[in-house]
Amino acid sequence: MIQYLKTDPWKVVEEGFNPQHHQSSESIFSIGNGKFGHRAAHEEKYSGPHLKGSYVAGVYYPDKTRVGWWKNGYPEYFAKVLNATAWHNIHVEVNGEELDLFTTEVSDFVRTLDMKTGILSRSFVAKFKHGVHCKIETERFISMHQESAAAISYKITPLNGEASVVMTSILDGNVKNHDANYDEIFWEPISQQVNQGEGIVVNITKKTGFTVGAAMSHSSENVQWQSDESSSSFVSSSFVGNLKSGETATLNKFVGIENSLYVDKDQVNNQASQHAISAKELGYSHLRSAHCEAWANIWEMADIVIEGDDEAQQGIRFNIFHLNQTYTGKDARLNIGPKGFTGEKYGGSTYWDTEAYCIPFYMATKNQEVARQLLKYRHNQLDRAIENAAKLGFKEGAALYPMVTMNGEECHNEWEITFEEIHRNGAIAYAIYNYTKYTGDKSYVLETGWEVLLGIARFWAQRVHWSEHKQMFVMHGVTGPNEYENNVNNNWYTNLIATWCLKYAHEILDELKRTNPEAHAAGIAKWNIQDSELNQWSMIIEKMYFPKHENGLVYLQQDGFLDKVLMSASALPDAERPINQHWSWDRILRSCFIKQADVLQGLYFFEDQFTTEEIKANFDFYEPMTVHESSLSPCVHSILAAKLGYEEKAVEMYMRTSRLDLDDYNHEAHEGLHITSMAGTWMSIVQGFGGMRIEGDSLAFNGMLPKNWKSFTFRILFRNVIHSVKVDAQGTHVTKH
Ligand code: BGC
Repeated sequence: MIQYLKTDPWKVVEEGFNPQHHQSSESIFSIGNGKFGHRAAHEEKYSGPHLKGSYVAGVYYPDKTRVGWWKNGYPEYFAKVLNATAWHNIHVEVNGEELDLFTTEVSDFVRTLDMKTGILSRSFVAKFKHGVHCKIETERFISMHQESAAAISYKITPLNGEASVVMTSILDGNVKNHDANYDEIFWEPISQQVNQGEGIVVNITKKTGFTVGAAMSHSSENVQWQSDESSSSFVSSSFVGNLKSGETATLNKFVGIENSLYVDKDQVNNQASQHAISAKELGYSHLRSAHCEAWANIWEMADIVIEGDDEAQQGIRFNIFHLNQTYTGKDARLNIGPKGFTGEKYGGSTYWDTEAYCIPFYMATKNQEVARQLLKYRHNQLDRAIENAAKLGFKEGAALYPMVTMNGEECHNEWEITFEEIHRNGAIAYAIYNYTKYTGDKSYVLETGWEVLLGIARFWAQRVHWSEHKQMFVMHGVTGPNEYENNVNNNWYTNLIATWCLKYAHEILDELKRTNPEAHAAGIAKWNIQDSELNQWSMIIEKMYFPKHENGLVYLQQDGFLDKVLMSASALPDAERPINQHWSWDRILRSCFIKQADVLQGLYFFEDQFTTEEIKANFDFYEPMTVHESSLSPCVHSILAAKLGYEEKAVEMYMRTSRLDLDDYNHEAHEGLHITSMAGTWMSIVQGFGGMRIEGDSLAFNGMLPKNWKSFTFRILFRNVIHSVKVDAQGTHVTKH
């Protein structure tokens, strides 16, 4: 763990200037509004190590794949979320000396992210070599109300003498992705203009042709516009003023962002400028209060209050805050990248994380249309999933959804994941089931979702094979959720979810036939569904092989698991953890150590099919061997531990999932935050400690109050009714609104 942030129920606070943690802070203090977002790079020049990241949702570039050895079926490219024009910079010069936050002496530094209002602020004293000390106070937000606007307020006050100040506000489109495979620039300049502080940079992505404009406009006090500069993909405007000691100069920067997903390419320039100008006309304080009000509305529904434990409280709010900054559900072309707008790792693309982890959060804290957008995203990409399966030799409409995607095409290029981590297909079907069960809305699955289920079922039916030896269906050469095992046979979880998909697709087709025979007949004709195919599914369902321990309770993660040297992760020396940063890959693969819930993921999804005794036996067997080196791991363990009454474990896992980035458990916060597992954190309170389950058409709760907590309260939107749930020492109280 790396702990340098202060605990506060509503804020993330960094006190003291910590260049050694700067890149982690850039991630942790990130802001966004679902349409664009960025890492919390400093406004001023910063010559130390940093990753300035500014990202626009849905804008990507197909970076040429880099692999050691090419294998048939590898995708040609890895679609990357693009680092776009940096709009946050305001460089400062005082009495001719440039403020470089890495080299200028700084004191009293405080950086605060107020999660209640979505305002990022900093204050510090810059001690210039010429002897003048200046107090700097900044605020920044990306508007939740006006989704194409952002603003910065920059104030400077000399404390001990006169200061001649130059503040230079910049739009810099000469940016590269940190993770570019061949160090290429993915943008080409289209235009840049600047006139008396109003400027714009428009760039277009190579190959994909996304046009993105970033515009700026300013208002100021005690500094006046003096000059503009521009060069390719770059504009700046300088504001100057002479300040007496104690006098404050303010520069307000209004930013407008637009892109060609929403307007014609040739309108991007005008629209972006218009967003910046409208924001300026509205004025900083009005723009700010509309933004804060939008956050207040979000919190009204999404907040979870934990009394008695500020660390636990801060953790959950941090997670809820970032989830809301990442995805708002307004556009079915967008999805939730594992790092959101906070970093480049994972390309910013869509993983199974969305369906397996994120859907419940959005379903319960937003209108159901938001979760439905996520389902539509996959339906819109069904053709590509069929093409993807065809590239791997599957036929007749079998669909394999990609492990990683931007537009439906597979981007991942490690064979053990791309070709083998096929369980992802199951999560996509599971999300449809989950949505239907939670919302009671069958229209999605019966109108269009069934086509997704059909494609997925067809894939599984072709992916299993009959074992003469076992006289059962088996599945070879897979990677389960636990990526610390590759190319295994009969991964229990994959066999389970495959069989379940076949059953669910079958049931839904039957229901379609009953409820809408015409649509069913049309579907049969369109997709050429034969009775023999459905009979084959039934045979697989009946005769699928599931590896099991001879004790009759423990399901084996895969064939041969018991032949490993089984030992507890507690025996691993601290210096060797996380093992993925210290061990060779072959050592990891041979070991028994588990990256994330695998068998337990299946027990979590399909809890109703197993007895508590079975769940307990498997938890007791697998959890001690689990190193939780995927962010997705602790939440599932927390939920199951709460179910089993293992309070201490449930709390330990909750703290780990909710403070994973705040406390940097896996030493990787600098790469970006773990956005998708944040939805898992929410589940660990609601489904874990709250014990929320759906029983038929109602909600049921079985609260567990951790010892250190006085109470916890959350809100759930279930079938158009808001339920407030409070768990305290007296029990679980549910109020419907
Ligand atoms: C996990 C995957 C996950 C991916 C993105 C990996 O470390 O093992 O399950 O989909 O991260 O979050």
